[in-house]
Amino acid sequence: MPEPITNKKLPILILAGLILGAAAGLTANRLWSGSEILAWTVDTISKPAGQIWLRSLIMVVVPLVFASLTIGVAGLGDLRKLGRIGLKTLLYFLFTTALAAAIGLFLVNWLRPGEGLSEATREELMKSFGEQARQMAEKTEGGKFGVEVLVNIVPRNPVAAAAQGDMLGLIFFSLVLGAALGAMPAEKARPFLAMLEALGEAVVVIIGWVMKLAPLGVFALIFSVTALFGYGILVKLLSFVGVVLLGLALQFFGAYSILVRFLGGLRPLEFFRRIRTIALTAFSTSSSNATLPTTMAVCERELGVPRPICGFVLPLGSTLNMNGTSLFEGVAVLFIAQVFGADLSLKSQLIVLLMAVLTAVGAAGVPGGSLPLLMGVLQTVGLPPGSIALILGVDRLLDMCRTTLNVTGDVTAALYVARSEGKSLALEPAPDLRR
Ligand code: ASP
Repeated sequence: MPEPITNKKLPILILAGLILGAAAGLTANRLWSGSEILAWTVDTISKPAGQIWLRSLIMVVVPLVFASLTIGVAGLGDLRKLGRIGLKTLLYFLFTTALAAAIGLFLVNWLRPGEGLSEATREELMKSFGEQARQMAEKTEGGKFGVEVLVNIVPRNPVAAAAQGDMLGLIFFSLVLGAALGAMPAEKARPFLAMLEALGEAVVVIIGWVMKLAPLGVFALIFSVTALFGYGILVKLLSFVGVVLLGLALQFFGAYSILVRFLGGLRPLEFFRRIRTIALTAFSTSSSNATLPTTMAVCERELGVPRPICGFVLPLGSTLNMNGTSLFEGVAVLFIAQVFGADLSLKSQLIVLLMAVLTAVGAAGVPGGSLPLLMGVLQTVGLPPGSIALILGVDRLLDMCRTTLNVTGDVTAALYVARSEGKSLALEPAPDLRR
């Protein structure tokens, strides 16, 4: 059995890559900000290197989601059990996503970060990032979304869905295929399931190889972000960034600790210790999808969540369950409203809450995946979608943090589902899992 992610030194090496990358990037920014040589170094060395590592992780996501979700559903047994676990999972997702949005809305109403932003700063930000916002709006038709999002969940062609990285379509097909395999006579389904299991195992081996390079990949990714990142904008938006980070911290250390303790049956510190590789990968990649291979491996091996439950809950979670994103969206919309001096009524705020939850469900698990949808929410409450320009400059930093939360939320869901199904967890993992 391959043991890819349980190497004890790996989290330390990834953390070292992260810290060294950030230190090198910030130093380079300080010394050579705006210079050609720095832009060249980022464009031709660090960005491609980081992208090669990131793409190697993303490369296995489609086969992984397909194999693990299909096997997971087929392995859960009869449709009644599947329905029960499915319902529990979705309700848990909904609860934690709504809780996160509510925390964000509470904080932004209380601390009112938008009121401190001066008119001059607002205009400067709109000028600097307005063009980027316009391009995003064009590409995504202003982030409009409606009933077709629901219709598109059912793919016309599952192969095309996989080819285009349409995760919802792929998930839907895998769920149905898994249910069908579970409903068939076992001897007929077995050969296909065995093949999928082999595919899943092979993916795990590939992830092991890719994760060996994680410290270097993380170094390159973080260097590229920080080398071009000025402090100036961070200072200007400090109150907004502070409120988002405070909210994320409350959900991460507060809500998850309670949920993990009482629904997952694990001591919070032990939980955070065991998932550190997941958190570091999510933070460095800003992508729930890219982190999924690591999440699956760590959740099974370090937390002892049974494979069918990991295979069911985690791929669903990486697309549907984005707690950090919904919190961020709620804060962002109200912050922008405050900057424009628009006081949103309670009714509008409830709409923001609902939309934050729905768009977090619909957002793609890629860097900046929620931004097009955020433009749609802005429009719904009567704010110009282009006003997203106000916060684009600090989005990458916040994306790193909210993605960490998104992925951690998925892991707490897997723990809860496993425990509620009477599976004993990692409190006493098999000795070979502790290496
Ligand atoms: N980057 C986030 C994720 O992959 C999505 C987002 O909020 O933009 O989970």
